[in-house]
Amino acid sequence: MTHWAEEVARELLKIGERHVISTGISPSGTFHVGHLREILTGDAIYRAVVKLGGDARFIFLVDDADPLRKVPAGVDESFKEYIGVPIWQVPSPDGSSKSWSEYHLEPFLDVLNDLGASPEVIRTSRIYKSGEFKDIILTVLRNRERLMRILGDVTGRRLPEDWYPFMPQCTSCKRIDSTRVLSFEGEYVYYKCSACGHEGKVSVSSWAGKMPWRVEWPAKWRLFGVTCEPFGKDHAAAGGSYDSGSRIIREIFEREPPYPVPYEWFVLKGKGAMSSSKGVVVSAYDFVKANIPQVVRFLYVKYLPMTHVEFDPIWGSLNVYDEYKQYERVYFKLEEPTHGMKDVEYIYWLSQPDGEIPERPPIQLPYRHAVVLVQIAKDFDHFLEILRRQYSEEEINENVDYLRVIYQRAKSWVEKFAPENVKFKVLERVTRDVIGELDETQRQFLKSLVEIFESEEFTWSPQEIHSTIHNVAKKFGLSHRRAFGVIYMIFLGKPEGPRAGYFLYSLGRDFTIKRLKEVLEL
Ligand SMILES: [Zn+2]
Repeated sequence: MTHWAEEVARELLKIGERHVISTGISPSGTFHVGHLREILTGDAIYRAVVKLGGDARFIFLVDDADPLRKVPAGVDESFKEYIGVPIWQVPSPDGSSKSWSEYHLEPFLDVLNDLGASPEVIRTSRIYKSGEFKDIILTVLRNRERLMRILGDVTGRRLPEDWYPFMPQCTSCKRIDSTRVLSFEGEYVYYKCSACGHEGKVSVSSWAGKMPWRVEWPAKWRLFGVTCEPFGKDHAAAGGSYDSGSRIIREIFEREPPYPVPYEWFVLKGKGAMSSSKGVVVSAYDFVKANIPQVVRFLYVKYLPMTHVEFDPIWGSLNVYDEYKQYERVYFKLEEPTHGMKDVEYIYWLSQPDGEIPERPPIQLPYRHAVVLVQIAKDFDHFLEILRRQYSEEEINENVDYLRVIYQRAKSWVEKFAPENVKFKVLERVTRDVIGELDETQRQFLKSLVEIFESEEFTWSPQEIHSTIHNVAKKFGLSHRRAFGVIYMIFLGKPEGPRAGYFLYSLGRDFTIKRLKEVLEL
């Protein structure tokens, strides 16, 4: 089997040796996990082309010249006055950044850096400001009628007779969505604004407004020589912007459209399609910071772009980590692949943020254990100390950097995604107020546990601890719920908690015995 990214790369190399892989997102709202698919799909193709010996450039066009369309929930109503204004000129929602667009872009760039995806970041506003679009704008203005015909044919909707392929910015009210072009002459575009009534002229040799999306997209293909582009499936629909863009670049710019890589939605389980305008959003930032980078990359590169992915950011994170580690063990020949696993080596390689495969397999600490340990550990050193009971000193030392990332990410997962019943805090001391009056059966049960845990023959392991609690409870006729419940009360002050075997194991034998004895003395 050939991985999908390699397949695309092979197709591209049949066309030519030099490639420009382009991606683009409008920073109009919070970047969500769906947006990661755009970039990580482009990144996978870029890496695949380079791996095959091709020459590639990977760009991320930030559509910051788009107008603000609506004020999202949670942002001050006063921002309504900026509707229609390009987002690079709208103030940051909380004043913390240079503009509306930079406010949303900054955390996303942080995340891309984290994931080792490093496209050249190009802001659309700067392309206009630099004058690089000037000739293209003049070309589309001169071809207004041909463009109207193409767009009418493709979309089945006739454009109004006074349509122009340019949206000048009103120099008076700053809107770009309310102006109507009257005429153009040389580099000047004459317009009238329906919002404020202003009439004026602007020069397209610098920032003066923007082309509408359906024209701007092929204009970017032309300017950058884009040869491949991933995009959401809505653009790929019949009559969509890829269709119109393809005709525009062929008929107006006399170039070929980029090789299309449409992708399906990446949705949040149980909440429908992710859309920043609907407010059901897991931000890309929160999601990435709650998972190790390899696992995030794995999640995106494993599936074909046209596979619809429903992701549960709560339990899904724990499961996808396990799956990634399984690929890792198969990669390092520590175990055999199971049915349905394919392209293991390619996927494992694409999952590495720096593209470098570790020399030896990293530590196999399950994330579901890490999220328990970070709640027990006082700090990172304590986290390592607990792990030393389970792993050799050598293995810990070799994996310190990797473990530091796991520690930070698991803490974020607990903070941002863990359901309340998964969160806990180990009681520093136990009092009668917390556990209440123990009956005789419970006391006998606890006494018996202490005896067994203290005996030399007992092996302090998660499995042994679990089965001991289970068996002793049975002996005293305590229900499973009451037996484990009293243990959780003693250590956590609440009737439920993580799997008791691994939990007590991680707390340590001495601590566990000491605490049980304290309770018996209350
Ligand atoms: Zn105006």
